[in-house]
Amino acid sequence: MATTTAPIATAAAIAGGSFLITNPTPADCFFPEDFTEEHRQIAQTTADFATNEVVPQSDAIEVKDFAVTRRLIKEAAELGLTSADIPEEYGGLEMDKASSAIIAENISKQGSFSVAFSAHTGIGTLPLVWYGTPAQKQKYLPKLADGTFVGAYALSESTSGSDAVNARTRAVLSDDGQTYTLNGEKMWITNGGFADVFTVFAKCEIKEGKDAGKEKLTAFLIEKGTPGFAPGKEEHKLGIRGSSTTPLILNNCVIPKENLLGEVGKGHHIAFNILNVGRYKLGNAAIGGARMAFNNGLRYAKERKAFGKPISDFGLIQEKLANMAVGIYTGEAVCYRTVGLIDRALAGVDKNDTAEIQKRIEGYAVECSIVKVWASEMLDMVVDESLQIFAGYGYVEEYPAERAYRDARINRIFEGTNEINRLIITGWLMKSAMSGKLALMPAIKSLMDEVMAGPSPKEELEGPLAAELALLAAAKKLTLFAAGAATQKYMAKIADEQEVMGAIADMIIEVFAMESGLLRAEKMAGGKANSDIAVAMARIYAAGAFDKIELAARKIIAAVAEGDMLRTQLTILRRLSKHDGSDTIALRRQVAQHVIQAGKYTL
Ligand SMILES: Cc1cc2nc3c(=O)[nH]c(=O)nc-3n(C[C@H](O)[C@H](O)[C@H](O)COP(=O)(O)OP(=O)(O)OC[C@H]3O[C@@H](n4cnc5c(N)ncnc54)[C@H](O)[C@@H]3O)c2cc1C
Repeated sequence: MATTTAPIATAAAIAGGSFLITNPTPADCFFPEDFTEEHRQIAQTTADFATNEVVPQSDAIEVKDFAVTRRLIKEAAELGLTSADIPEEYGGLEMDKASSAIIAENISKQGSFSVAFSAHTGIGTLPLVWYGTPAQKQKYLPKLADGTFVGAYALSESTSGSDAVNARTRAVLSDDGQTYTLNGEKMWITNGGFADVFTVFAKCEIKEGKDAGKEKLTAFLIEKGTPGFAPGKEEHKLGIRGSSTTPLILNNCVIPKENLLGEVGKGHHIAFNILNVGRYKLGNAAIGGARMAFNNGLRYAKERKAFGKPISDFGLIQEKLANMAVGIYTGEAVCYRTVGLIDRALAGVDKNDTAEIQKRIEGYAVECSIVKVWASEMLDMVVDESLQIFAGYGYVEEYPAERAYRDARINRIFEGTNEINRLIITGWLMKSAMSGKLALMPAIKSLMDEVMAGPSPKEELEGPLAAELALLAAAKKLTLFAAGAATQKYMAKIADEQEVMGAIADMIIEVFAMESGLLRAEKMAGGKANSDIAVAMARIYAAGAFDKIELAARKIIAAVAEGDMLRTQLTILRRLSKHDGSDTIALRRQVAQHVIQAGKYTL
């Protein structure tokens, strides 16, 4: 495979988080319809590999036959699937981020393997790509690229998961400055049982500078077999049972000073910057999993008969099929739009300037967290509804719905729990607003002036999505209005009001998702296959998202205002929320008929 660049990736960068205060157009966004021929080939190669090589090994993978997982990683490497993010100089293919997202999506047909694979290619490899010295890169990256080595990332501990910087593992520099000795225990480490090279985080004393004497998080490279370093017992998990999850025990583990990764005391940069990439890739993996679960559920719905007809004839089953398809359609829009933003921002950046690359990706921390939260929750909805379609058969192991249901659940927990990611979304935007990096405050002020001036004439939009585009504009106003009211009340103390922060995050997430679905449908209009179905799906999603946004705004206003102020704000809220509604029952029937006839998700 060669490197590939989508035309959209060469356009000027769009600031992270700016969607709330601007009106992006379809041309600003990257969607699956924008894939290049090479992107499509990568998708096909990956999907064929997952279907023909990985899925048939499911039984062996699920009983933790790690030799099979390792062999499959090696075979994936031979196809170039493990090296998309590795520079060519070190044996990689150095592709655009869209390509690695496409791989993450299409490899995800077997949950346990997908987690092992993404831990290896993501958190197991990227710390070296971004922070390794030339010697470290030369030593490890070619082996990680060709699958000779498997990577792992060890941040969490039994007492520090979300609060990761609170690690208890310690690293002490020897008196002669030649070695570090590590002691402690890491927990929940993916690929822990069979990985060859681990990025391990420990607290280490800073020797010089203004922080001298302080102990701060620091990253180290440790190889399997290093004396004093060993994985503990495999965890027995609810799902992704075939993936390896172990503690790592560090008992006077001595490593050469050359194994320090990055700088002493800067481990938190490595830990958190890597997670942004992990988050958007998790979104793509969730879409792959959702598509599998949907197609299984759809096939069963067409075969299973009750009351003399296929259950896919029933309205309540059709409603589920439509909701699942809408989830996948919107998910693709959300995930590829985000990766497109990142590729645009990275266009023209020197590939060796890893500090600049991280800084630019960090600029989309909000979108990365949105993708993570939204896609993991969409996946849970899809696997749940798929299981419900299988009903009794969904509850037993012989059918695929049971494992998909269990495997999906982890996605709301790792790469930062969804609670932590919701706090990141609101916190990051508030910080950007306060610092003036994002012109949120002027936007809130001008909205407040507008609503206080009384009702304004509605802008007349045209086209099949006119009503939903008006809803989107109102959704943005409601979000700014509620966020403005909350900031006015709590000021800098808003971080202590987690329920309000969470509700604001929900509004922001839904705005991004509804806008992504609408822009994708607009982009498909004018002749693209299935553009009418895309319009129906975007309309269904927008209607539901707007209801959620309105509810969240109401909750926030009720918490921050009282008396006359509460009444005034609720009047404004009602005015901003006024709309005629759409016949989502008919739209869902249209989508369901389409997928039933096609026999699979087709967009
Ligand atoms: C299968 C599996 C694989 C994993 N793989 C890896 C890996 O490869 N490497 C690695 O380093 N880690 C890994 N993890 C660990 C994972 O990242 C952590 O489980 C996760 O970060 C949450 O930490 P915790 O489990 O300690 O929960 P806690 O942090 O104790 O959280 C418990 C609950 O409290 C909530 N909470 C915590 N803090 C706050 C707050 N400030 N405000 C509001 N709510 C809060 C959380 O959202 C959660 O609901 C893995 C975990 C699992 C289960």
